[in-house]
Formats: sequence, C-alpha cells, structure tokens
Amino acid sequence: MHDPTRREFMGATLVSVPLMQSCGDRVTASPIPTMRRKDFEPAYLRLERSGELERRVRELQAIYRSCRLCPRRCGVDRTKGQTGVCSSTSRAKVFSAHPHFGEERPLVGRGGSGTIFFSNCNLLCVFCQNWEINHRGDGSYVSDDQIGRLMTDLQELGCHNINFVTPTHVVPNIISGLRTAIRRGLKIPLVYNCGGYEPVEVLRLLDGIIDIYLPDYKYTDGAMAAKYSSGAEDYPEVAAAAIQEMHRQVGELVVDENGIALRGLMIRHLVLPNNIAGTDKFVKFVAEKLTPTTYVNIMAQYRPEYKARNIPELSRRITSAEYQQAVRWAREAGLTRLDRG
Ligand code: SF4
Repeated sequence: MHDPTRREFMGATLVSVPLMQSCGDRVTASPIPTMRRKDFEPAYLRLERSGELERRVRELQAIYRSCRLCPRRCGVDRTKGQTGVCSSTSRAKVFSAHPHFGEERPLVGRGGSGTIFFSNCNLLCVFCQNWEINHRGDGSYVSDDQIGRLMTDLQELGCHNINFVTPTHVVPNIISGLRTAIRRGLKIPLVYNCGGYEPVEVLRLLDGIIDIYLPDYKYTDGAMAAKYSSGAEDYPEVAAAAIQEMHRQVGELVVDENGIALRGLMIRHLVLPNNIAGTDKFVKFVAEKLTPTTYVNIMAQYRPEYKARNIPELSRRITSAEYQQAVRWAREAGLTRLDRG
C-alpha cells in the first residue's frame, strides 16, 4: 500500500472519511472530529462579553515593562523603546496581510487563510526563509487598532480564519487589536502560527482566545537549537511544554462540514538534512505525550536560505530518502493524522 499523498489525505478530511487507527490488536475506526459551522462560536467572543479579554490585554501589556514574553526573558522595558533579542519595542510592525493559499488545506479552503505577517522574531534561525522580515525587520509600524482593522478586512475578503504569523513577541498588540476587531464584527477563528518557543505562563493568558494553535516543533536536541536558533538551547523542553499546553487548551483539530479548521492543534515539523531536526524523537513525543491522532504536518520544503548556505550540514535540500524515512518514523510511532507538506 502506498503512503497517502497530501491531497489524498486532505481529501479524506474534506469528506470526513474515518481514519483507521490501531487499538491494541484490534483496528477501530477513528472519525475525524467535525462540528457544524453554525454551532461554532470563536472562543474570544465569550471572553469579551465577560470582560475577561480586557483584563488579559492589560496583563499582557504589563509584561512589556520587563519583557518575558518569550523564554529569552530579556527583562527590557519595551514601553520605553528598549529592545531585546527580538529587536522590537512595544509597537508592532507588520510586513503584509493577505489571503494565503499555501497553508495547510484545512486553513485555506476556498477563501484562503487571512495571514498577518509580523516583523522580527524571537527565535532567529540561521535557515530562516523569511529572513528579510524576521531578521532584518522589514515592515511598517501599525497601531493596535490597525491590527484589528486588518483582521476584519481579511474576514470581509472571505478568509476562513485570521492567521498570525510570528506573533510571540507582539502578542499584547494582537490581543489589544482583537478587541477593535470584535467591535467591528470579527467572528472567524484565530490561528496562532508560531515557532514553538513560547512560555507556558504567557500561553495561559491566551487560553479561551486562540482557537487554533499552529506551532512548529523544530528540534529535539538542545545543542542543535542552540547552534541554529541563536542560542535557544532550552528549545526542546520549552516547545514540548508549550505544545502540551496548547493541546490542553484546544484539543485535537476539529473541522466543519466542509473540512475547514475551527479549533484545535496542528503541529508543523520541518525535516532538516542529516536529521538535525530529530524527527524520530519528535514523532514519539507526539504519540506518547499528546495523542496518535494529533494533526502533524511533516514538511519536506527545506531549502538552504539566509546563513544556511554557508553551513555545510544545512547547505542542501533534504533527499527523497530522508523524507521517506521521516514519514516511516511517523507511521511507526503510530501517528494517524499525518499531513505531508
Ligand atoms: S519577546 Fe523579545 S524582548 Fe521579550 S523576552 Fe522575547 S526576545 Fe526578549
């Protein structure tokens, strides 16, 4: 039997065909969780009605005064213009906002995913494919209200969700802007599209706000993370704890009757040359610490960008054999909701 392609896999999602799941020595049907669109209400509307969203915004903004929004814990006062590893003050910068049709199929549908790309980054990988945005900081300063207006503009264009790309270091601005968007009628799910380097205490402030978490899990070896992501040696433990917290908050991916994502966790894992990403350990983590039916996208698209061209072990694309091995590891670990990007 051949491995399903991405299109075949997602075709199954779109028509809600049960996936087959091993259960001891039996095989049982495991239907893809679905919810009728008309029964869905994004989590943030409830918090806004109760006044809790306003309180969360204040708590998040207070963190800027001695920044510990991410595990770098720089301690700088970003409200006074100081900057830490992410080179960002308390004003957010946006590079672009547009419907995106290259994301995972459950996010894209017919209308696209409403991506807002934030400038700068807290992880700063040597192989960054958007280094002009994330390292050089290309983009324009925007007010929180403008971020909110971008959200409703994307909704009006027919996007199925609002997809915050690299949000970690500007999350207070995003959630503040969300209140403007709610006043303007926002009602589609929010996607938190991050590098996985997130502290659990900040994620807890997003509980009940974010509907869909879309984290990377980049490395399982701290030495690799330190070498290729600006000294982030604690990345494997931090990302594992962060993803477990995300799973606790939103659970497994739930889609509507048309296969469009409404809520849940979607994990991305980029296969790197020479198994630098530690794919074998990553898939075991998902199977053992989350669930075998967690949505995982094993990504083949690595190409040497930015500084990686000059780093011998990262200076080539992955081979077909490396990718097939990664998928075999995922299947051997028992993962059943496997996308292949
Ligand atoms: S968000 Fe930026 S300033 Fe704050 S702790 Fe992280 S890297 Fe440092």
